[in-house]
Amino acid sequence: MQISKRISGLLGGGADAWALFFRSRRMIAAGMPVTELTIGEHDIRTDPSILAAMNTAAMQGETGYAAIPGSDALRDTVAKRVQARTGVATNRDNVLIVPGGQSGLFAAHHATLDEGDTALFIDPFYATYPGTIRGVGALPRAIATRPENGFQPQEADIASAAVGARTLLINSPNNPTGAVYGPATLEGIARAVIAQDLWLISDEVYDTQVWQGRHISPRSLPGMAERVLVVGSMSKSHAMTGSRIGWVIGPEAVIEHMTTLSTHTTYGVPGFIQEAARFALDAGPALEHDIAIPFARRRSIALDLLKTQNLVKAIPPEGAMYMMLDIRATGLSGNAFAERLLDEALIAVMPGESFGNSAAGHIRVALTIPDEAFAAAFSKLLGFAASIAK
Ligand code: PMP
Repeated sequence: MQISKRISGLLGGGADAWALFFRSRRMIAAGMPVTELTIGEHDIRTDPSILAAMNTAAMQGETGYAAIPGSDALRDTVAKRVQARTGVATNRDNVLIVPGGQSGLFAAHHATLDEGDTALFIDPFYATYPGTIRGVGALPRAIATRPENGFQPQEADIASAAVGARTLLINSPNNPTGAVYGPATLEGIARAVIAQDLWLISDEVYDTQVWQGRHISPRSLPGMAERVLVVGSMSKSHAMTGSRIGWVIGPEAVIEHMTTLSTHTTYGVPGFIQEAARFALDAGPALEHDIAIPFARRRSIALDLLKTQNLVKAIPPEGAMYMMLDIRATGLSGNAFAERLLDEALIAVMPGESFGNSAAGHIRVALTIPDEAFAAAFSKLLGFAASIAK
């Protein structure tokens, strides 16, 4: 029996980006005291007040089929939020509720690409990006960025890659690099995208985690609202990773088109989850701040510890819940460093190479364990780097 190439091709045939993560999970299952600084999962759970709202909604009967583009109430809440944060006129017809940002990324590419079209993305990239593009039958084309530029994409690189392409996917604040795209970067992106008549898909799932500068949505730049699809999520902002809820914002006609896709794939998001999301968004910025602030604290802890040595270098993350460390001075690749760190120091991090060629010689450290344990693990990591460099 044959299985589809469309799905077997999702992984792209390269080395499995998650191999080290799965190895660390196996070590933990075998009882080894591994400290995990791998995936983007908070060390707190969803706030009990949100769970209570979820429970109330379910008990009140929100357990049947829900409206496929999302409930009017949640779409209104999301539209109001997006308008308040970006200044761009937004109403419920610009909002599609989806089961998480990943589902939104898939839907956005499905809505804008045909078989064989070329889709651009920025390297380093979140691990699912090329597979998401291949999954809709399109051809991924990476645009490299450089640590010397703080991993901000350059207009000339985008402009030359954009010829013949149909979409560009960007992510700010960025996973894995922590880059927050400033006005100059975004204006360059907008010019390149308009010149080649591309769709811009903007993954903004970390928009509440900004430590330096401010988050700008490219949808707010002149002439962009009609060609931008924004992907948002409650996963990171509200510690709701397991609830699987997010949205896509875009022109009405595209949202309508994507509603047809939802009818044939997800058939909507459970009503009680939508009500929990509405409650969480209505709770306002204080809750989001409380969820984000531990990452800012651990970022400072790491930056202070880095000052005690000059072997390992960081590009100080401007946002998101990770830190990229340049470990090239140890003479090891990101992969080799991460493998040895796991075996010899029992600390699991992601090799930069998991996120593309542009992150080679780096590792990504997630800021996702309690402060004291984080400080101890980070010091141990620096000590390990020093011991190999000797
Ligand atoms: N985009 C980026 C950049 C991410 O890091 C993640 C999750 N780690 C997602 C999208 C998907 O998140 P979710 O589906 O939980 O919203």
